[in-house]
Amino acid sequence: MEENRKDSAIVLGAGLAGLSAGYHGGFPVYEAANYSGGASYSYAVDGFVFDIGIHILQSKDDYFLSLLKNLNVDLVSRQRSGWIYSYGCLSRYPFQVNTSHLPWLVRARCVAGFIAAGKGNSPANYEQWMIQQFGPGFASTFLIPYAEKFWGCSPSEMTFEWVGNRVPRPRLTEVIKGMLADQETKLGTHAYFQYPSDKGVGFAAIARALEKKIEPVHYRMKATGIDPQTKTVIFNDGEKRVGYRRLISTIPLPELIRLLPQHPAEVKTAVERLRHNSIAVVNLGINRAVLTDKHWVHFPEKDISFFRISFPGNFTDGLNPPETSSIQAEVSYDAAQPPEREELLQKVISDLVKTGIIDGKDEILVKDVFYQKYGYVVYDHHRRDSVKTLHDYLNSLDIYPCGRYGAWEYLWSDEAMQSGRRTAESLGKRC
Ligand SMILES: Cc1cc2nc3c(=O)[nH]c(=O)nc-3n(C[C@H](O)[C@H](O)[C@H](O)COP(=O)(O)OP(=O)(O)OC[C@H]3O[C@@H](n4cnc5c(N)ncnc54)[C@H](O)[C@@H]3O)c2cc1C
Repeated sequence: MEENRKDSAIVLGAGLAGLSAGYHGGFPVYEAANYSGGASYSYAVDGFVFDIGIHILQSKDDYFLSLLKNLNVDLVSRQRSGWIYSYGCLSRYPFQVNTSHLPWLVRARCVAGFIAAGKGNSPANYEQWMIQQFGPGFASTFLIPYAEKFWGCSPSEMTFEWVGNRVPRPRLTEVIKGMLADQETKLGTHAYFQYPSDKGVGFAAIARALEKKIEPVHYRMKATGIDPQTKTVIFNDGEKRVGYRRLISTIPLPELIRLLPQHPAEVKTAVERLRHNSIAVVNLGINRAVLTDKHWVHFPEKDISFFRISFPGNFTDGLNPPETSSIQAEVSYDAAQPPEREELLQKVISDLVKTGIIDGKDEILVKDVFYQKYGYVVYDHHRRDSVKTLHDYLNSLDIYPCGRYGAWEYLWSDEAMQSGRRTAESLGKRC
């Protein structure tokens, strides 16, 4: 079947970036799945609602927040209850101002290192940056092991251009105070955060609201080829062909390049150099009324399988059945070697018991695993040049990648939406 959109741009992908591009540009959106939301999707299993890994809103962007208001996405505000599990105990986030539960020697090393930190040459990589900013004590106790576990590579292979205010640097007085007593601080971007309040919907409330405002999204339309000469996208192995004037793509860059019939050697090299981690999201429904009032816990230590757990039922009401609780554990893996489902479930459950999060006797009502192949883009030393090569090449073909995996950036949901909006608006003027 042939469809002609030669007078318009079309959008690939109905995640938040694609929906936003469709909404702001008035362009049709084509999505491989039978639902919208992409990485910001949520789904229910026997009455327990889970997002694709922890999703909270920490946006201060006026445009984004007023857009949500206009879309009637109601939000609840929460004061963070974030924690770190280390040396067999729980300390409040951020670790740098909450060392009072740690052995004295570790505390002393962390604080002494912090006092001497902040000096020296400009760091050459993310590992050096952590040592320079926080000192060797904090770096080796928490930051480096967590980074290795989370990113699946050594932080010495990464740049720190993406850090921004994601790793907060406290004042020395706060660090010293934190040696002696637990402190609830406002450090970091998510001291207060928001979450959609729609009962039983989850983070997907944003995508659902946006999808209602655009011409129907074309679901079950997987792009399987692009002919840049005739400006045609081939869907579902030839079932449908859509001609376009300009193509906005939010699908992951490596997948997008694969859709093109051929490309120059430098493009091939650039795409081979792109790196990302993958996240296995393990979702559990527990037959216990109030497991905890915490929102999330980080786990830097290597003998625990997950780097983070969260408690979806504490974000808003209605995300699990009455008198139950839910836990979501996130495990980073290499896309080439996804962990086997049953083994992963067993390991996660035994680590939850080992760390005292659940009791061995707790009844587990729901066990679910979601594999998010494209998790976080790894900012290694090739990323910037590779992305530029790929974007320049794609733009020369009138293809405009955006969103978290099109821009190939560490974008939060609001930033992904802004990326879709900017791309649509810039093309809108030229279309
Ligand atoms: C584990 C995890 C935790 C996160 N936590 C937070 C958080 O706490 N707060 C926050 O704000 N953000 C968070 N994010 C980021 C947020 O999820 C993303 O920024 C946002 O959802 C990205 O939207 P996108 O549209 O750019 O990409 P995606 O959501 O990936 O959308 C791309 C779409 O393209 C579709 N597609 C792929 N291939 C094809 C094809 N061949 N043809 C047609 N369609 C195709 C996909 O199905 C998908 O719907 C998190 C992300 C992850 C992975």
